[in-house]
Amino acid sequence: MSTASEYPARHVPADLPTRIQHYVDGETVDSLDGATFDVLDPVSNTTYVQCAAGGAADVDRAVQAARRAFHEGPWPRMLPRERSRILHRVADIVESRDARLAELESFDSGLPITQALGQARRAAENFRFFADLIVAQADDAFKVPGRQINYVNRKPIGVAGLITPWNTPFMLESWKLAPALTTGNTVVLKPAEFTPLSASLWAGIFEEAGLPQGVFNLVHGLGEDAGDALVKHPDVPLISFTGESRTGQIIFANAAPHLKGLSMELGGKSPAVVFADADLDAAIDATIFGVFSLNGERCTAGSRILVQREIYDTFVERYAAQAARVRVGLPHEKETEVGALVHPEHFQKVMSYIEIGRSEGRLVAGGGRPEAFPTGNFVAPTVFADVPPTARIFQEEIFGPVVAITPFADDAEALALANDTRYGLAAYVWTNDLKRAHNFSQAIDAGMVWLNSNNVRDLRTPFGGVKASGLGHEGGYRSIDFYTHQQAVHVTLGKVHNPTFGRSEQGSDAVAPAGPVTR
Ligand code: NAD
Repeated sequence: MSTASEYPARHVPADLPTRIQHYVDGETVDSLDGATFDVLDPVSNTTYVQCAAGGAADVDRAVQAARRAFHEGPWPRMLPRERSRILHRVADIVESRDARLAELESFDSGLPITQALGQARRAAENFRFFADLIVAQADDAFKVPGRQINYVNRKPIGVAGLITPWNTPFMLESWKLAPALTTGNTVVLKPAEFTPLSASLWAGIFEEAGLPQGVFNLVHGLGEDAGDALVKHPDVPLISFTGESRTGQIIFANAAPHLKGLSMELGGKSPAVVFADADLDAAIDATIFGVFSLNGERCTAGSRILVQREIYDTFVERYAAQAARVRVGLPHEKETEVGALVHPEHFQKVMSYIEIGRSEGRLVAGGGRPEAFPTGNFVAPTVFADVPPTARIFQEEIFGPVVAITPFADDAEALALANDTRYGLAAYVWTNDLKRAHNFSQAIDAGMVWLNSNNVRDLRTPFGGVKASGLGHEGGYRSIDFYTHQQAVHVTLGKVHNPTFGRSEQGSDAVAPAGPVTR
């Protein structure tokens, strides 16, 4: 265990809270039984605050508040424009506090400050985007001339349970909060227990923006306690979850008896495929950023790089040299490119994969803790070459700054390798051959493909994975679809076409006339 004094330049934000509480029905509250858990910062690995540890009773209290706000409060009944105004104000407030948000997020999660700032701005953009989308929302109407009109009556569903991970906490919370709220639902958020600090800012932001009381509720706590209670609560018809595939399976099973609506954004082991004809400089920059940004704690990380044999040796040599130059540093320093991993438990997991990798591939960069950082959760950007597809570091999500490079001969082998994992979240393809680019991209089992591009996402596009990487798609109007019922209303315009049963006195051998087909 390290101590804070080992890094005299370590930054501790001013005015940290003295405790972190739940937020229920417009009030900050402790757990009903007073339980708390320790929250560490990832540079010193010492406890800096106690956070309320919610259990089933706390979740129930929050769900009842959200239910009241849904059934009795104004939020679901407000005009889209009225809700949109409030959510734009949320975006304004988040933007105006981006520096403070980034400071707290970086301190709590170990993310480099410049990247935490980008995530804070993305959180604001999520609110702005869904606030705009809801006022432009059009629903289907189908006419059968002279006979019938059918239209969609879109309705909020009720209390949405939102369960989020620790890798980009505030941004991922915004990704669920914005569409859930904009559509008129009320929510209970259960943020990740490793990183509760930035989540506790939402309450003040929503109050200031004018969100009605009880619409937003927050229960902190461990996944197996607070998260589990939220999933099993009978008055929560929707669960939107982002986290590990294994947790997704547990939630799926626990939600089954209630037949809940589920959206699952899960793990990944995404391939970056580099063909010999690619722009090598761009491909190297992108694949370095793709796995070492956000400390490698990124669901869409391109953590398996597949490289065509003709350029393989050059690629590996250049990649390893550049990875060795990636700057590991204290999270608050502007020059830092890789900060500290979120928690000592996660650090141990990543380090154990590095040990496994030593016998599975050829270590060409990194390989453990950087010399300048004897304590805290620091890991040097680590590159293994010649990794066979049977290797655990090829197959399993490490979620840290560790990458596996594997050679391939031709398109067929590249595709087989790209698809040879249980995951299917993202893929990155680098080639200048137009036909190959499209055919190859379309053949990959991945929810999202970036072609000659880094991970830059337009908020209107679908987001989601296939195979073990997820269930359902959010993004743009798909998020609106997830958080609403689309009730079909069918209206007769002309004469009512009723096959009349029971008119005849003749008895059971009468043949009923066929009903009309209205199409
Ligand atoms: P995790 O699954 O351990 O935890 C995620 C959340 O689920 C936390 O809030 C946790 O408390 C809660 N939880 C844990 N057990 C639960 C249970 N039994 N019932 C209800 N809730 C429970 O994931 P993590 O370690 O926090 O996050 C890293 C994972 O998230 C990685 O696998 C990463 O790929 C994935 N992720 C996916 C996406 C995506 O969009 N696909 C984005 C970011 C992260």
